[in-house]
Amino acid sequence: MTRNAAALRNDQAMLIVMKSQASADQVEHVLRAIRDHGLTPHPLPGATRTAIGITGNTGAIDPASFEALPGVMEAIRVTRPYKLASREMHPDDTVVSLPHTRFGPGTFTIVAGPCSVENEEMIFRTAEFLLSRGVRLMRAGAFKPRTSPYSFQGLEFEGLEILARVRHKTGIAVVTEVLDAAHVTAVEAAVDMLQVGARNMQNFSLLKRLARSSLPVLLKRGMSATLDEWLMAAEYLLADGNRQVVLCERGVRTFADHTRNTLDLSIIPPVRRYSHLPIIADPSHGTGMRDYVPAMALAALAAGADGIMLEVHPEPEKALSDGAQSLDFAGFDRVLESLRKIAEPLGRAIH
Ligand code: PEP
Ligand code: MN
Repeated sequence: MTRNAAALRNDQAMLIVMKSQASADQVEHVLRAIRDHGLTPHPLPGATRTAIGITGNTGAIDPASFEALPGVMEAIRVTRPYKLASREMHPDDTVVSLPHTRFGPGTFTIVAGPCSVENEEMIFRTAEFLLSRGVRLMRAGAFKPRTSPYSFQGLEFEGLEILARVRHKTGIAVVTEVLDAAHVTAVEAAVDMLQVGARNMQNFSLLKRLARSSLPVLLKRGMSATLDEWLMAAEYLLADGNRQVVLCERGVRTFADHTRNTLDLSIIPPVRRYSHLPIIADPSHGTGMRDYVPAMALAALAAGADGIMLEVHPEPEKALSDGAQSLDFAGFDRVLESLRKIAEPLGRAIH
């Protein structure tokens, strides 16, 4: 961990927002003034203006003393427990880029594929189907976190090899779950994006390792995590240098037993308010039943999600995991068609 990252974990932080026309000299002057107070500046690139995060004990400093400097628009105290993940620190929406797609404003990104890598044939069939429908990011688990040790645990390293081949031969981008810090290097070599599953959202040693990865991370919400706990988990990734983080709401545990989990779409607006990170929803794990997936996929788009994750399998009735919640190809086509009808009026292009 760098010293800057350590400082950002303190509760005191402030943000200086420069005017959009501020000059490089004015920015430099503010950086010097921050250092003169014995504090650490963190320049934060933005689309239209520079912002500068400040860590260290800012408690004794009057924000007005910074607001008096030339080129400064405002100085704001960062009140949330997470800092780099907060919108206070980074007012613009973050765009997370992948080889053929992205997550962020203006797009609604579909991540689809089987729960598990089962064999090479079904992975290639699914990839080719998805590419033919314009989907550029496939999901499939090689390492599976199963409730029962007797359930299919995934093809593990052999599964990674299949994923690496499908990427190279078809050009589809791939996200897969990394279950263990010891597997990260092997998983990084095989795919384009690393998934942290719900059961690992607070596996801090895994998060610290992924913070040093050059690949983007898809961070699923823990099944009983609050908004603050989830964003603090994201903060672990950001604090040690990985700013490419996408959040994924996948349902939480409640008293309800009519679905596998309770897909908490009500967390999307507050996440968008308090954080700049993209957020997607996973109606497959969120409901556990394929019949309920289409309605919740549309609801996720309407609620402001930046995308969805859908489990899709060529023959769901034969799936080795999560068949009941997996769509077949025709079912996927129906969801895509209805999403297309509402995406554009809501200002989102389907990716
Ligand atoms: C998955 O995406 O296959 C998975 C295991 O999801 P979660 O961690 O949300 O249960
Ligand atoms: Mn699954």
